[in-house]
Amino acid sequence: MKRVVFAILLCLPATAADADLILQNGRIVTVDAAFRVAEAIAVKGGRITAIGSSAEILKGERGLRTKVVDLGGKTVLPGLIDAHVHALEAGLSEFRGSLPVLDSIVAIQNYVRVAARSRPKGGWIVVPRTLPPRLKEMRFPTKQDLDVTTDHPVAFDGSYVWAANSLALKMSGITRDTPNPAGGEIVKGPDGEPNGILRNASQLLKGVARAETFSEEDKVAALAEMLKLYASAGLTTVGDRAVTPAEVAVFEKLKSRQQLPVRVVMTWRINAARPVEEVVSEIRASSWTTNQGDDWLRFGTFKVTLDGGQSVGTAYQRMPYGSFGRQLYGQTDPEARGTLFIDAQKLYRIMKAARDKGWQLTAHVQGGGAIDALLDAFERLDREKPIAPSRSHVMHGSFMSEEALDRMQRMGVLVDVQPGWLYFDVPALKRVFGLENMRYFFPLRSYMDRGIIVAGGSDHMIGHEKNGAVNAFNPFFNMWASITRRTREGEVVYPQERITRQEALKMWTIWAAYLQFGEKTRGSIEPGKFADLVVIDRDYFNCAEDEIRRIEPVATIVNGRVVSGRL
Ligand SMILES: [Zn+2]
Repeated sequence: MKRVVFAILLCLPATAADADLILQNGRIVTVDAAFRVAEAIAVKGGRITAIGSSAEILKGERGLRTKVVDLGGKTVLPGLIDAHVHALEAGLSEFRGSLPVLDSIVAIQNYVRVAARSRPKGGWIVVPRTLPPRLKEMRFPTKQDLDVTTDHPVAFDGSYVWAANSLALKMSGITRDTPNPAGGEIVKGPDGEPNGILRNASQLLKGVARAETFSEEDKVAALAEMLKLYASAGLTTVGDRAVTPAEVAVFEKLKSRQQLPVRVVMTWRINAARPVEEVVSEIRASSWTTNQGDDWLRFGTFKVTLDGGQSVGTAYQRMPYGSFGRQLYGQTDPEARGTLFIDAQKLYRIMKAARDKGWQLTAHVQGGGAIDALLDAFERLDREKPIAPSRSHVMHGSFMSEEALDRMQRMGVLVDVQPGWLYFDVPALKRVFGLENMRYFFPLRSYMDRGIIVAGGSDHMIGHEKNGAVNAFNPFFNMWASITRRTREGEVVYPQERITRQEALKMWTIWAAYLQFGEKTRGSIEPGKFADLVVIDRDYFNCAEDEIRRIEPVATIVNGRVVSGRL
């Protein structure tokens, strides 16, 4: 028997071409410069070794140990990249139990009623974080809404803005005479009494458990679970957009156990709400910088949070929130424009310190005023030394303007966008600002026409289900949203900003890789690159447009290994 095997080995061509895996008879969308579609691909040692026709690849790359898979005409894409997630936070959000879908005030009330049944009288009920613009009623809940139980204090966690029921207000001693805390507001109803909405004032609630506590091992397990869910959605790399030193340790632990199912590029978010000297000295003392690490886990970007969020009415805008802001966010001042957390000089000093350490720079900016402030800082740095080589970028940049687009183009600034918000948030936001003031809300076509590199991201932070999560991290849904610009009410938002399927795919592959300095090894299917691939159940380019969001991965391959699904 031994002799027979030996004889066969002698008859085979050079073992150098002995692929680990051949996928043949498929539609392999390479996303290379020519955007070729090939039939077959060979993989060895975690890398792509050859691409071509099925006949060529089988002839040239097949060896004795090669696993050959007939794709039966299925489509293969480069492994998808979500440039913007919050993996650990999302992993922990359903680590101990699944979260309900809270898409209306009625659903919130049901949640409270059910919770009240199993909780002793007087025990707090905290409604998990939900974004008011996504509630069917498009308004912020008040104490009346939460008074479905009178035996339990209830709090609704809207992050920056909270709401409390009557008992919670009473137990916390909050009355019409309670002074507003610094920078916060106890919102009053027409009768002059607190209506339950606490803007940046949730610290007044006494005895509410703010966050569950988790051990280090819980965190490692939750992160591992979340990363597996990313892989099953077709993602092979994610950009985690806000890590702290403690979170970096969790990622490193997972990596040291060789349990990273996908590649991770980390963004260090520094707490800039401190004296500038303190922030700058932390940057200087840190040993981290862009591209430090390896192909599984590395540092990407340095980040600060420059303004609030459009989901809580604190994004720093060029225009006021107006009267609908009161209903949606409990915003009592119709002239309010949101909050800019860092002034110009401080931002410049922080960014300069990070730039001098070799960091790629970004800031969370949603409102137009915040975008302009970040571009001011970038321009100042750019005058000292061109900023383009650092691939620094605008994060979110929801409310763009033509002028901001021009400035980005001129400096070579990139952008990390969340087109899923077109679907989820435009219905409420257009009632706040007017659709006419949202001409440049995620202006994808304008970016592309200017040659601005656009990376696609979900900003996933809560929930494990890829379509129901906040934010939905199903990359095919997000590509569909980029292509159609359709809202959940069915409206197409500025159709002139639509992009092609090819461009949307690039946002979740090669352009996201480019933003992460990873375009030489990831983001397309080319010989020498990592074998990061996703086999899908329908033809991305030829299926009906509305089918795109329903595409399901059949198998996700990272570094040549099937990490989700099967071949
Ligand atoms: Zn984010």
